[in-house]
Formats: sequence, C-alpha cells, structure tokens
Amino acid sequence: MEKLIYEKSSEGRTAAVLPEPGVPEKKLEDLVPPDLLRKEAAQLPEVSELDCVRHFVRLSQLNHSIDTGFYPLGSCTMKYNPKVNDAMAGLSGFRDLHPHQPEDQIQGALELIWNLEKAISEIVGLPHVTFQPAAGAHGELTGLLLIRAYFEARGDHKRTKVIVPDTAHGTNPATAAMAGFEVVEIKSNDKGLVDIDALKAALGPDVAAIMLTNPNTLGLFEEEIWTVQELVHKAGGLLYYDGANLNAVMGLVRPGDMGFDVCHLNLHKTFSTPHGGGGPGGCAVAAIKELEPYFPKPTIKKNGERFQFDWNRPESIGKVKGFYGNFGILVRAYSYILANGANGLSQVSRDAILNANYLKQSLKDNYKVPYSQPCMHEFVMSGSTQKARGVSTAHIAKRMLDFGVHAPTVYFPLVVPEAMMIEPTETESRETLNQFISIMKEIDKESIEAPDTVKDAPHNTPVKKLDEALAARKPNLRWSPDQ
Ligand SMILES: *Cc1c(COP(=O)(O)O)cnc(C)c1O
Repeated sequence: MEKLIYEKSSEGRTAAVLPEPGVPEKKLEDLVPPDLLRKEAAQLPEVSELDCVRHFVRLSQLNHSIDTGFYPLGSCTMKYNPKVNDAMAGLSGFRDLHPHQPEDQIQGALELIWNLEKAISEIVGLPHVTFQPAAGAHGELTGLLLIRAYFEARGDHKRTKVIVPDTAHGTNPATAAMAGFEVVEIKSNDKGLVDIDALKAALGPDVAAIMLTNPNTLGLFEEEIWTVQELVHKAGGLLYYDGANLNAVMGLVRPGDMGFDVCHLNLHKTFSTPHGGGGPGGCAVAAIKELEPYFPKPTIKKNGERFQFDWNRPESIGKVKGFYGNFGILVRAYSYILANGANGLSQVSRDAILNANYLKQSLKDNYKVPYSQPCMHEFVMSGSTQKARGVSTAHIAKRMLDFGVHAPTVYFPLVVPEAMMIEPTETESRETLNQFISIMKEIDKESIEAPDTVKDAPHNTPVKKLDEALAARKPNLRWSPDQ
C-alpha cells in the first residue's frame, strides 16, 4: 500500500517558503477569541514540494477514472466531459469573479445565466428555471418546496402525500419526507412501468404530487405517461420529473410536453461537469408559470440591456443556497450546450440509447435481462443465473475491476434481484463496448469453470477484497499522529 503522507514526514522539511507578511503584527488574541486559539501547533506532514506532488499524483493513479477506463455506472451518467468546457469555466473573466461584486461588474456572468435559463427552458419545455440548488437531491427538495408553497398559497392544506414508484431513485422518497410529505410507494407492473391501477388507487384529494423518472431507473420509457399525467392532474396533483439524468431524452422529448409541472436536471451528469468526486455539483430546477412566484431568490431579470438580481419576491421559498448557485458549473453547461447545438444534443441521446441497446442485446444470452423491451440510455440485467452457480453480482462487480472496468450500480433498482444497472453513455466507441462485452462473457464463463477466481476478486487492484462488515462496524476514517 501507498504510505500515508504523514508517514513520509521529515521534521523541518517544507514545500513552501512564505515571504514576511509586511503588515504590522497584531496580537493574534486581538483578532481571534482566545478560546478558539490553538494551544499546540497542528501536526502537519512536513514534506518537500516534490514529495508532495509525487504522493498525490500516485494516489490519483490508484483511482479508477473516466479518463483512464470505462465507467458503465447506471443512473449516474459517468460520461466523458469534454475538456473544452473546463477551459471555458477557467477563463479568468468567469473564474475570478467574486460573489460580492456589484451587478454592474458581472453583467457578462448574469447574461450567461440568463441565456442558460433560456436554453434549459427550451430543452425541458418548461418556462422558468433557477440554478440555485447545489445538486440533484437538493433540486428535488427545492421542487417539492415549490409544490408545497403552491398548495399552501391556495389554502389547499389537505395535500400531504407524494406518490413514488418502487423503481424510484432513493433520493425521491427521502426528499418527499424531508419536504414534509408522507411517501406513498406504488408497485410497478410486470413490464417495469407505473401500474395504472395502483396509481388510480393511490390518487385522491390528499395527494400533492407524483415523482417520476422517465425513462425510469430500469431504463424503460413510461409509455403511458400521458394517461399518468391526466390522472394526476384530474385528481388535483402535480407531476415532478426527476431529470437528474437527461441523457436519454435531450432533444427527443421534453418533460414539459409529457405533462410535468416541475423538474430538476443534474448539470453534473448530462451537462459536462465531472462528478463522482464529491462535487461541486450543479442543478437546474424548471417549472410551470404557476410555480414561478415561489422560486428561490434572487432570480435574474432583464431590464432593457441590463441584467439584475430580483430580490423583491414576496412569495419566494427564500434562499436554498449561498449566493446564486455553483457558477463554474453553469459555464460548463452553457459551453456544452453551445458546442453541441440542438442537433448535437439529440445526437447525444440517440447514441446513448444505441449504445445501451447494443450492450443489452449482446449480453442477454449470458445474463438474465428481466425486461426485454428496448431500453433507453441504460438497462438492468441480473446475475441470478451466475448466482445459482454460487457467484453473486457482488463477486462479478469486483471481478470487473481486474479488467480495468468500473463496476456498474449493483443491487439497484430493488425490484430486480442481483441487479446490475449498466449505462454505457454516448461517448464510448464500439471498440470499447465490444471489449466490455468480451469481459462480461469471460466472467460468465469463469462463473462455470473457475468460480473461485470470481469470488476472490479483485486480484489486480491496489487494494484487494475488503472486509466490508468490519469496515462498516469499525470504520477507520482518519489517521491520527499517535497511530
Ligand atoms: C443522481 C440522481 C439523483 C441525485 O442527484 P445528486 O446530485 O447525487 O443529489 C436523483 N435522481 C436520479 C434519477 C439520479 O440519477
């Protein structure tokens, strides 16, 4: 194992020599309350610049990354993010802005946000957009708070329930609960889609909304979405679209046209911000005009040629985040949208769908595919055939690491036993997909001929199989000097 940087420390060695501050020395006690002052110096690693650089570059090379290998992680769109969009976000005119700068110095940034609002509005078919939430789940919360504010303003206090199908992303029921609603789960039918009878039974004057992902987390398009929206609207409820992952529908079909009233998009999935490293993320929440008065403040308005923040929004749910959202991510999204253009965006979705169906067709003789209709950008297959041979989906996922492939999402959605949720994305070549197909066929063969090779995997990774029970019970999360 790579040594910890603390273990490389050598007393007195240093990576930085700072100049004298050149300002009159003020006693620290005057600036910081005494009880907050450190009593002893922090025990920081003492290393040279080169030791430090090598340490972190080596560590980064231990990780799997989209820049080094295939990453078919379903639901999350771990696609390649073109570097040009990072370069745009790094332009000094954007990068060096400070959120406390006055409006007249940030007209370009406000114009970019304004233009991006228009572009996202066009893509989702809903007229109003805010970028304040920091990520997907946060966007869901914002959207549901809009819905709650809407019903409260109408004096409709009975609507306390939110319907969520059993294939929903885990954040959906969590969000509904956090926004103060009671969650009503409805079962899917045998095609993996919303069961219309179950929906009818759940609807009533106490339902505020239904949260749906379309395509759902099985990668299946809800064919009866028009009936669903009619039923929900007729019952007085609203429809929330979880568009965290818009990679299947961009330029092909719009949530607004499917009858949804509010939706969120993860800019860090479909719109070119890398994700998976803990952030920052970015989110767009779009909605019908009836929900706009409740949008987080400020919004941006255009006054002649000038852009301004609008704080005068008496019905707003308030702020959901400091300042105006994660701006650098908005620059990447805008750059991505302009670089692709309308035709390019729909081509992204078409290619993502083609790649997923190609993998599904190519693997269906080796792995059980529970829903056989064509999929959208992702599909779910099951390791149940292999499980009968004693090799579980968890084993298969670990074995994939030996071949330099990141494991897919496993054991989700819950409606499929031994699930593997695979999303190749549009950016992968046919050669990469073919290579993945041979790896999966090889692992299937091993599950018959050499099951222990799969069960003991991974063999080639820097860290071997972990004792997950021990890690969960006694997590060792930080190093301390006396270790
Ligand atoms: C990723 C995802 C979310 C959550 O987004 P975060 O940015 O991780 O909070 C919600 N719903 C779906 C369908 C997703 O794929």
